[in-house]
Amino acid sequence: MNGNGVQDVSLPDYCVSYSYPGSVIHELMHATGFQHEHQRPDQQYYINVNYPNIRLDNRQFFNPFKPNEVNTLGLPYDIKSVMHYPSSFMASNPSIPTMVARSGDLNLGNLKGFTKLDTQKINKLYNCRY
Ligand SMILES: [Zn+2]
Repeated sequence: MNGNGVQDVSLPDYCVSYSYPGSVIHELMHATGFQHEHQRPDQQYYINVNYPNIRLDNRQFFNPFKPNEVNTLGLPYDIKSVMHYPSSFMASNPSIPTMVARSGDLNLGNLKGFTKLDTQKINKLYNCRY
């Protein structure tokens, strides 16, 4: 999110994929005001981040925000959110995960699109009925 009004949105080189629209939805959710799900202040209760497998210059994308820097809207952490990185994203060694759910789940985030919680969060932020 970059202030109010018109803003640029970065899309992948392939632009929009019919099978995997999640990357575009991810960028549009940033534009509507959402940060990465895995950077919520309560991250530590849901995932473990394997920092040694993340290059130093990319570690900032995994650090949790402080509670006053992000609004979780009182809704739960969502490991399947379109705003959550997959488990091996930005891995120095792709055979080793960068994030693992505390439940042991390695299937984090998704490229299909919104989860139910993603839509609830947008509707709550914009005072829409849901
Ligand atoms: Zn992002």
